[in-house]
Amino acid sequence: MGQPVLQHVSLAERIYLVRSSVMHDVLDVLADPWQLAILKSVLHNPLRFDEIIGRLGISRAALSMRLNLLCEHNCLQREHYGSSGKRFEYRITEQGRDLAPVFILMDQWNHDWLGSPLETAHECPHCLQPLRLQVICRQCRTPLRPLQLKPLFFDENESLYAEIPDYRRTRSTPGKNDTDPMLIRAEAWLRDRWSALIIGCLLFGIFRYADIQECIDIAPNILAQRLDLLIRGQMLQRREDGGYSLTERGYALYPMIQVMRAWGMKWLPGHSPIKHGWGLLHTPCLSWFNPVAACIHCQMQYSV
Ligand SMILES: [Zn+2]
Ligand SMILES: [Zn+2]
Repeated sequence: MGQPVLQHVSLAERIYLVRSSVMHDVLDVLADPWQLAILKSVLHNPLRFDEIIGRLGISRAALSMRLNLLCEHNCLQREHYGSSGKRFEYRITEQGRDLAPVFILMDQWNHDWLGSPLETAHECPHCLQPLRLQVICRQCRTPLRPLQLKPLFFDENESLYAEIPDYRRTRSTPGKNDTDPMLIRAEAWLRDRWSALIIGCLLFGIFRYADIQECIDIAPNILAQRLDLLIRGQMLQRREDGGYSLTERGYALYPMIQVMRAWGMKWLPGHSPIKHGWGLLHTPCLSWFNPVAACIHCQMQYSV
């Protein structure tokens, strides 16, 4: 598949796009399996500490750490309950609730590509059909397709430099313990720093081995191992020219990634298109892209 929207973007600019993406910070919140599970468990009703343990089977220490982090990121708030004033329950914030479409999109990816049963079989509150979300452009309402977003830089004279960020989240390798790579879930691909960065490179048209290595500053043996895992998981494929490209299965993460990116831009401190020096133009309507997760049947925006 060609990448017409990236034709006039230099390699240095592409590297900058990957390194300066808000996704690094978004995945600190979302790629941890417990954090994801905790947010989902309190999405509709606040829960007490012991109630979350009862639902998720998480250890007290692990839960306490995750709750602190989610409160620090303003996704949850701690509220007193009872007369003693010493006990707390955890309630999702507006910021946390804004992630609900991401949970559904991940669930849909796992259903479509792994055959997993849908975790939650909702119906659309507007048309009452079984809920299925698609990501559309807020401006022109057309569904997002791969490679329709063109990165535009605000100031051509600005020197482009960004370090590759260090991640707070634990480094885990998907596919450890002989897991079948075809069974790796959306959140697990994104949870792995290196797999997520390689997917980011490919989305921004960095597809040669040496260019990926330069962009994400990865040891050659680890890059080779991750590329092999991504190929065996059918997330990417070799190109005839020796580079790599995403498969349909890999591209199916794209709408989800755009919703996560928009969430980060809206809610995470220190991120804005102005600060990053670039934005994404939706090429069908030539507006700045603003994604909406909408019901596939009635096009109404999904919110909890
Ligand atoms: Zn609907
Ligand atoms: Zn549009």
